[in-house]
Amino acid sequence: MSTQLLTYISVNDGKIKRSSLEVLSRCNQLAEKHGGTSAAIVISDSVSGIADELKQYGPSAIYTIEDPIFKNHLNTPLLRAMSKAVEEIQPSVVAFASTEGSKDILGALAANKKAAALPDMSEFELSDGGVKGKRPVMASKIISAVEATGSPVFISVRSGSYDVAENETNPEITSIPFSFSDDDLKITLREIISASSDRIDLNEAEAVVAAGRGVKDEEGRELISELASVLNAGIGASRALTEAGAYDPSLQIGQTGKVVSPQLYIGVGISGAIQHVAGMANSKVVVAINKDPDAPIFDIADYGLVGDLYKVLPPFIEELKKVKS
Ligand code: FAD
Repeated sequence: MSTQLLTYISVNDGKIKRSSLEVLSRCNQLAEKHGGTSAAIVISDSVSGIADELKQYGPSAIYTIEDPIFKNHLNTPLLRAMSKAVEEIQPSVVAFASTEGSKDILGALAANKKAAALPDMSEFELSDGGVKGKRPVMASKIISAVEATGSPVFISVRSGSYDVAENETNPEITSIPFSFSDDDLKITLREIISASSDRIDLNEAEAVVAAGRGVKDEEGRELISELASVLNAGIGASRALTEAGAYDPSLQIGQTGKVVSPQLYIGVGISGAIQHVAGMANSKVVVAINKDPDAPIFDIADYGLVGDLYKVLPPFIEELKKVKS
């Protein structure tokens, strides 16, 4: 029997998350290589625009579940919708991007279906009767080889692991009937408190500027904001600064924070502790700015600038502005 891959398309504020398109692109590749199919599923309060947009990313079929309950992420209805979708579609592999949302439901979904789950993979391939791949563990010090058999296998994949490939197709769009009563909700969402609505999502950002303990005051944070703004980058921070209250904890990058994989990461006043590196080692190009030439971050940097950030950032930002204008 041919392999049927199904990618869950994560949507935020009506926009498809790039990390889901990366997973879909990889599933398309595998379907072509192994002679299977690669479908996508969209679960949202409004699916038509998203389904149309998805056509340019090459799925062989698109499934949708639409209900007002999906305006915000709620575990119970999402779990039920995905359970129903898996029953209807009977995929052999269900792939998610590794996001807060998928962390919330992946394990529960696998338990519900008495199936295997391989979370947070950095590579995956079809194996004989299942999925195999790689998964960074112990703050990425060790890469474990993992494999699960059975059908379906539920997996999630770290952002930045694969490129997005466009390939216009004309897939059939199938709506899966679904109903959900608010009475079934054990948790009521009362309010979403967003730290900042204009902030660039670190998981999706093409460029990230990360501040470390070397950024000591308001003047330093202002320079970080300016640099991020000229590069249209997301702002992140080391634990030294989130713990000190200088940056919101949601901006922490690392083992106990977010894992980012932008095209460009600039670490400013960050030493490069292993726990921080665990969250940014997958970045395509790493630039480090540090006054200590022996700082470990230079060991993993593609470009290094040794200097006092308060002195080197202002001319650096000015030059970038000139290039941009
Ligand atoms: P420091 O290590 O103090 O480095 C500051 C750097 O700034 C130095 O290299 C210094 O040379 C440079 N500097 C100082 N002044 C200037 C200047 N004017 N111009 C240029 N450079 C300057 N950390 C994380 O980041 N994320 C995590 O998720 C995380 N999880 C952890 C989990 C555990 C279980 C543990 C034990 C630790 C964790 N840590 C984490 C903490 C981690 O070990 C480091 O302590 C932390 O990353 C250090 O942050 P830093 O690089 O900003 O500070």
